[in-house]
Amino acid sequence: MGWKPMPVQAVRWAFLGVFFAATALAAAAPATVPVPDSYPLATDVRLGGDGAQTRFVMDLDRKIDLHVFTLADPYRLVLDTPQVTFQLPPHAGENGRGLIKAFRFGLVMPGGSRMVFDLTKPVRVDKAFVVNAAAGEPARLVLDLVPTDRESYLRNVALQEKFARSEPPPAAAPPPLSGDPRPLVALDPGHGGIDTGTKAPNGECEKDIVLDFAKRLRERIEKSGKYRVLMTRTDDTFVPLADRVHIARAAGAALFISIHADFLPRREGDAEGATVYTLSDTPSDPQAARVAEEENHADVIAGVNLKDEPDDVAGILLDLAQRETKTFSLQFAQKLVGDLKATTRLHKDPIRSAGFRVLRAPDVPSVLVELGYVSNKHDLQALDSDGWRDRTADSIAAAIGDYFATHLAGTRAGAN
Ligand code: ZN
Repeated sequence: MGWKPMPVQAVRWAFLGVFFAATALAAAAPATVPVPDSYPLATDVRLGGDGAQTRFVMDLDRKIDLHVFTLADPYRLVLDTPQVTFQLPPHAGENGRGLIKAFRFGLVMPGGSRMVFDLTKPVRVDKAFVVNAAAGEPARLVLDLVPTDRESYLRNVALQEKFARSEPPPAAAPPPLSGDPRPLVALDPGHGGIDTGTKAPNGECEKDIVLDFAKRLRERIEKSGKYRVLMTRTDDTFVPLADRVHIARAAGAALFISIHADFLPRREGDAEGATVYTLSDTPSDPQAARVAEEENHADVIAGVNLKDEPDDVAGILLDLAQRETKTFSLQFAQKLVGDLKATTRLHKDPIRSAGFRVLRAPDVPSVLVELGYVSNKHDLQALDSDGWRDRTADSIAAAIGDYFATHLAGTRAGAN
């Protein structure tokens, strides 16, 4: 139950564009965060009906507030509630019915849970309410959806946005100023909360593997005493992609490392080993394009309105800085692969590039590391082992040292 520093929190609010009522705001304040046992408990879900009317029902141990809104392209319905403990049957949400294709659920921020429904076509929310427990029946959240046309759907989305904007988001707090001159390394464990990332055949989630790995890496980098570390998340909370970039830039990061694990569908064969990706407009190969598309999908998964995403790469003045950033990113990728070679199996083509949205900081050299494939037996074995995680984190920490040794020496030589 760690309390997050204010900037991260404020940024999350601004970027998610979530308009929780005062209750959720109060729940996020440090003094009033309830103990986990006191969160409402969701125990079961049911889907009923067909394409003409679809009903979603969720059993709860008490009544909760809810806020429903829809998003376009792709058609999604988002249901925000105060933090809920989901104890739903395994595979809940994987298969849809009627107007609901599938749904996901989880934490989007401390104090706030979310369900995101992928829709088969435009819908109108006919009813959305929670009934109190009565006569031995649990409290129930009920959602009734009926089909509508695209035009009405879009009009409704626009109306919601207008309403949402009438309430100004809390002002983002200034980034923490530090007198510490040591370079800041931003570690970005992918996914989190409602967005599980890829899933291994043994049920293990990418979001958990990469968070554990990032924490080990942080420990090693900090141990050297030469660098500071910032993590874009330290718990099982969702962070939008643009938010991750913003957190790193606002804090003045000198290097950004996003950490992920890949999954290759069986029909596409087998692949193994770690890959380091950098940003490029045109993908280095079709596989790199697939990986970027999947990683960029995180915001869709979590119900972020893509229209609200600020364009971090706008402006021609950034061009020059961006070219230098690209060069530095590639230099770090090369050092990383060089050091990883000793401890970690690498993909046969270990440095590749594509349009990863999380690598778009124009002024922070950034790479995305896919540690391995959870779809590959050997990789999964390695990913699951403490020894492998420690050795690989050692190699990445060493590469960070190599990179800064070269760059800081260069800076000093240039200044003299
Ligand atoms: Zn990922």
